[in-house]
Amino acid sequence: MKAIKTLQIDEHLPFALPLIEEEEIKEVLDTLKSGWITTGPKTKRFEAEFAKFVGARHAIAVNSCTAALHLALEAIGVSEGDEVITTPMTFAATAEVIRYFKARPVFVDIDPVTMNIDVEKLEETVERSAKGGRLKAIVPVHFAGYPCDMDSIIEIARKHNVPVIEDAAHAFPARYKGRMVGTIGDITAFSFYATKNITTGEGGMITTDNDEWADRMRIMSLHGISRDAWKRYTAEGNWFYEILSPGYKYNLTDIAAAIGLAQLKKAHAFREYRAEIAARYNEAFERIAQITPPILKDEPETSHGWHLYVIKLNLENLSIDRNRFIEELRARGIGTSVHFIPLHIHPYYRDTYGYRPEDFPAAYGVFQRIISLPMYPKMTPGDVDRVIDAVLDVASLFKA
Ligand SMILES: *Cc1c(COP(=O)(O)O)cnc(C)c1O
Repeated sequence: MKAIKTLQIDEHLPFALPLIEEEEIKEVLDTLKSGWITTGPKTKRFEAEFAKFVGARHAIAVNSCTAALHLALEAIGVSEGDEVITTPMTFAATAEVIRYFKARPVFVDIDPVTMNIDVEKLEETVERSAKGGRLKAIVPVHFAGYPCDMDSIIEIARKHNVPVIEDAAHAFPARYKGRMVGTIGDITAFSFYATKNITTGEGGMITTDNDEWADRMRIMSLHGISRDAWKRYTAEGNWFYEILSPGYKYNLTDIAAAIGLAQLKKAHAFREYRAEIAARYNEAFERIAQITPPILKDEPETSHGWHLYVIKLNLENLSIDRNRFIEELRARGIGTSVHFIPLHIHPYYRDTYGYRPEDFPAAYGVFQRIISLPMYPKMTPGDVDRVIDAVLDVASLFKA
């Protein structure tokens, strides 16, 4: 696909930008003019097209990935005192939804190369949690969009008869051993936040093949009222509804779904373009001792979603630390970010569970060295060159 020329030339290159074009605008205008602006026909179409795209039986549109994860845990029946196993190398959302139920997020350290959950350590933790009788679910996160070792994770989960709920906020579209992410675990949660691979401004999607959980999540996404509650204002609708459970207000609007319908058509092209940027970055950074680029494991059967491009600094070969490296890039007009500050060192988790930084040494160690570089379809080849030049310049200027 062709990149669209960005407005700024020598100014600051933002870390992330959405690519909203005529198709999105046209689809949104159509919705605005239709008179139906909240959950309705466009949301239904977005769900149907998304389900078809990944090959899942059900797709339920919601207003965030956080909502998706919350509904998934509700559907499988997480309750107070349960343990849900996940990674500390993730965003706030993955663990906070576990706390919504007064359940405990149990962290398992990461593989320092892929930054996905370490499956050997996962097995030990799962055994321990299961023995205590509190194991309820496993929530792997496909870090940066690279699929976790799902065969091993599912095998461990099946042994203890607990579901696997995937946080696939980064992994759309991504493929694992020939299957699309969204059809692998028991329930999968996607994000359409402004910076994610496709966006609806704010939004999310849940996929599952389980009819019962799908029903429950759909009902709970809109006040716990009986199925297809949104239809009560259509011609075929009916004023009558029943509250089955105290649910939530997590429905996606048709305005957002309109953006999603247009974005979905470009999802593969967007991913291809990000993969091309990643390949160019890797080529440039593989040559220098100061940086370890991410692995480029793009095989025909397993493909990276390339949401994030995360370099690791080899601090022993540099005279500056990660924070200074980021400042130097900023001074050269390059926006960056850090994914993630591990959850266990945040005050809430540190103080609630008494975690020390070294409790998850791989996550903590890698955290000192990581920088996420810009990688999005709105970047021009010239923008990519600017990032490469700036990184190489800082790395050589501060070579130890
Ligand atoms: C962005 C993100 C989320 C939350 O997505 P929202 O749609 O903003 O709720 C969850 N998990 C991870 C790993 C994320 O990066």
